[in-house]
Amino acid sequence: MKVVVTGAAGFIGSHLSESLLADGHEVTGIDAFTDYYERPVKERNLQACRDHQRFRLVEGRLQDMDLRKVLDGAQRVFHLAAQAGVRASWGREFAHYTEHNVLATQRLLEAARLSGGTRVVYASSSSVYGDAASLPLGEDAACHPVSPYGVTKLAAEHLGRLYERNFGLPVVSLRYFTVYGPRQRADMAFHRFLKAARDGAEIHLYGDGTQTRDFTFVSDIVAATRAAADSGRPGGVYNVGGGERVALNDVLDRIEHVTGRRLTVVREEVQKGDMRDTFADTSAARRDLGFRSTVPLGEGLEREWQWIRGQA
Ligand code: NAD
Repeated sequence: MKVVVTGAAGFIGSHLSESLLADGHEVTGIDAFTDYYERPVKERNLQACRDHQRFRLVEGRLQDMDLRKVLDGAQRVFHLAAQAGVRASWGREFAHYTEHNVLATQRLLEAARLSGGTRVVYASSSSVYGDAASLPLGEDAACHPVSPYGVTKLAAEHLGRLYERNFGLPVVSLRYFTVYGPRQRADMAFHRFLKAARDGAEIHLYGDGTQTRDFTFVSDIVAATRAAADSGRPGGVYNVGGGERVALNDVLDRIEHVTGRRLTVVREEVQKGDMRDTFADTSAARRDLGFRSTVPLGEGLEREWQWIRGQA
């Protein structure tokens, strides 16, 4: 199959592209190498794909390129390109979020509908929910994002729904819950914590550590994303989570256990935009996508730790 992966040089996009290539697909990756983090990191993410004969990279911003040409003949589009990061989405930086998350998505959907025959999977986020009245979060829970980032991810989901309703474009949105594993972005908590453990540096923890998260290992995210293209309900939205609700203080204990190092923790104020708790109800993904979380937190942390150690 000919497939397109946007954000192919990113953390999740590079894993997804490798998985598709391994199963014999022809992958066109699109990435703009935005400066949210350094290009050499993204080049390393892409290395295995670049070495592959069935991989082609189109470099540029989705909102500027002739997408109809790139999408021509593609049977699947996995849309992962975005400006990620909750805390950076306030202030002037918000312009990046509207550009890369909303406008770029609209341009992609427009090209997909005109190219015909393509299914689109959109990487949405648990950030669309905001602070929940009750847990676990079902897909029909009210969405009141607490960050500008979450607002843009929700807006793009709505665009997907509009293109499905009005033009019959099969779009499926997945709400990823905190993704981790090798290549995790350096601004994310596990990466920062494990790197600090490796280097004997201080860990900066925002809030009192009782906030909870549902962490999802990247290979489980890849499996769900691929399954969504095959059996997701067009216009549908699915949670994808690891299935365990863990407090950040507990994460620190587990990190000490996995790394065998004592951590020095500096506690800081809660950051604006951070959700208090997340925990996914994944029954819809289990039913329609055959989704199962297969990597428990202890094992996933160990794998990310091995990767972080290799980066030194
Ligand atoms: P990432 O920053 O590592 O990857 C995103 C990639 O998209 C980058 O390589 C960037 O250069 C590229 N990009 C950004 N805007 C672009 C544009 N306009 N045109 C072309 N390329 C562009 O992020 P990630 O952590 O791999 O996240 C991937 C997707 O998953 C994002 O849509 C993100 O919102 C979503 N998501 C991630 C998480 C998580 O925990 N990492 C959780 C929920 C949702």
